[in-house]
Amino acid sequence: MTREAMYASVERIRRELEEASDGRYPAPRLMAVTKTRTPEEILPLKDIGITEIGENRVQELRTKLPEIGGAFRIHLIGRLQRNKVRQIIGDVNMIQSVDSVPLAEEISERALRAGLRMDVLTEISPAGEIQKGGVPIAETEGFLRQIAPLEGIRVKGLMAVMPLTEDEAYLDGLFAGMRQLFEQMRDAAIPGVEMEELSMGMSGDYRLAARHGATVVRVGSAIFGPREPR
Ligand SMILES: *Cc1c(COP(=O)(O)O)cnc(C)c1O
Repeated sequence: MTREAMYASVERIRRELEEASDGRYPAPRLMAVTKTRTPEEILPLKDIGITEIGENRVQELRTKLPEIGGAFRIHLIGRLQRNKVRQIIGDVNMIQSVDSVPLAEEISERALRAGLRMDVLTEISPAGEIQKGGVPIAETEGFLRQIAPLEGIRVKGLMAVMPLTEDEAYLDGLFAGMRQLFEQMRDAAIPGVEMEELSMGMSGDYRLAARHGATVVRVGSAIFGPREPR
């Protein structure tokens, strides 16, 4: 894809996010998901005002860091094994995929050792597909209360990956449910939890996510074009 085509996509997506949120919510920020993309493809996004990128594999991120580190705020958005936390703790700005207490504990411990506090989101399983990761909706408050006291993390909100489906009405309900959960958890005012971020919506469904008050959408292929299978 040419740089011009990529810029046109970013501008179109921003417009669509603005339209879909329709004044009911602030339009979500656009995060570029850069997995499988090279630094040469990623770096030009800086010039069009993209400040946040999402990567989902520790090894891949490590290889790209020398070129992209410092240019963007980097979010880890994929499943994270506990034994990999150490390798990225100082290099990412947020870990969005925290869905177990042991993982939260490991992040906290490694962050403290590195002299920092890591921003994290709790990954929710909106459709109850917990084999894919994520905390069930009904367990969210208990989970937040368990991890909130950990001193090396700062809990900033919720993240969701929607199921693969063409059923728009079903998805619409799941996004609405996530927004409701987000507001309930915000109103619960759990000590140590700053419920500010609701990360949901990808290339296929960012408009629906914007309509239901996502604060940030994570978009890859709608910016860069289709991904090669890996
Ligand atoms: C790959 C990925 C995205 C972006 O997917 P696209 O369909 O390419 O926009 C968003 N979130 C997560 C967690 C991902 O792994």
